[in-house]
Amino acid sequence: MTTHSLLLLPGDGIGPEVMAEVERLVAFFNKNGKVQFQLDTALIGGASIDQSGTPLTDETLGKARAAEAILFGAVGGPKWDKVAYAIRPEAGLLRLRKELDLFANLRPAICYAALAEASTLRREHVEGLDILILRELTGGTYFGEPKEIVTLETGEKRAVDTTVYTTHEIERIARVAFDLARKRRNKVHSAEKRNVMKTGVLWHEVMTATHAREAQDVELNHILADACAMQLVRNPKQFDVIVCDNLFGDMLSDEAAMLTGSIGMLPSASLGAPDPKTGKRRALYEPVHGSAPDIAGKGLANPIAAIASYGMALRYSCGLVREADLIEAAIAGTLARGLRTSDIMQPNMRKVGTAEMGKAILAEIEKLAS
Ligand code: NAD
Repeated sequence: MTTHSLLLLPGDGIGPEVMAEVERLVAFFNKNGKVQFQLDTALIGGASIDQSGTPLTDETLGKARAAEAILFGAVGGPKWDKVAYAIRPEAGLLRLRKELDLFANLRPAICYAALAEASTLRREHVEGLDILILRELTGGTYFGEPKEIVTLETGEKRAVDTTVYTTHEIERIARVAFDLARKRRNKVHSAEKRNVMKTGVLWHEVMTATHAREAQDVELNHILADACAMQLVRNPKQFDVIVCDNLFGDMLSDEAAMLTGSIGMLPSASLGAPDPKTGKRRALYEPVHGSAPDIAGKGLANPIAAIASYGMALRYSCGLVREADLIEAAIAGTLARGLRTSDIMQPNMRKVGTAEMGKAILAEIEKLAS
């Protein structure tokens, strides 16, 4: 029997609540499946600041390096609003992504048939939607230097963020985009702002060159990021894979989240480069949502994004396609039976909390697996 090592980083707010539902599924597979998961847990974010004064300790980083895959919950919350910027909870996640060089963030936006009515768009625009936003995760505006607020001689303040990309960074995300598209509907939209940003000019140039050199079998379209935002709500089904930089990817993936009904539905994966010897990529799986302080501790959080993130870990890191399919089918089945957390509540459906939704998905898995 193959053993897969997973590191759980539940984090803050609703992070531990949704992670508990993932553990419920892991326990099921360990008991009944043909696979074994070896779990380790560590602190990150605010929880780690409270214990060690830092959002990411060397110990947690060491465990993250050793794990086959990391399952992450969420970090942050008002409790840590006043900590120094460099050690805020989110800095732990950013450093983890950087240290493991997780440069490719995959954010699928899939609209389950049972949820088509929950979208703000009409059913015909979202039913059957299956798009993938590929966001560059370790470069661009969130990491570029200088990044500072300075006080000018006049006493006025000036804030600076810097957007930086190199050829190599754009090339490697382009390759991931083309590879993913080949396993899907073979179409890539590259979104940037070459009309006003130099990073956009280089992004366009390198995407075009990489495509011409390595991926002529894939359809490549260029689109301005603002036009892409508009098209996502006008006609989202025209897209297959959308590849973009860190900042635009952050926004476009949240917008795509709303097409599917709720941010509580969206999983994500962050992948590194393939290991030259094993071909395995370092990987971190996490829901797109944050720590949701407004509902934390109330048992209201939708655990589906976290559970679907676990499903992605099974698919992309563990090679457990059957189990991953089982999880997706169980989510679809549970929604079809009318169970809803409050974020995706619809008329005549049954409102459930975090644990009840987790238990229902597990029951569906048991039913489908038997
Ligand atoms: P958020 O995603 O935490 O919440 C936005 C809204 O969506 C809230 O109304 C929340 O209740 C709701 N929501 C989110 N997840 C949900 C779920 N699973 N089920 C039901 N409803 C859900 O974003 P925010 O409010 O902008 O940020 C809150 C905190 O989370 C901040 O400290 C922020 O920095 C942090 N954050 C962390 C991450 C991360 O850890 N990756 C990502 C985004 C935000």
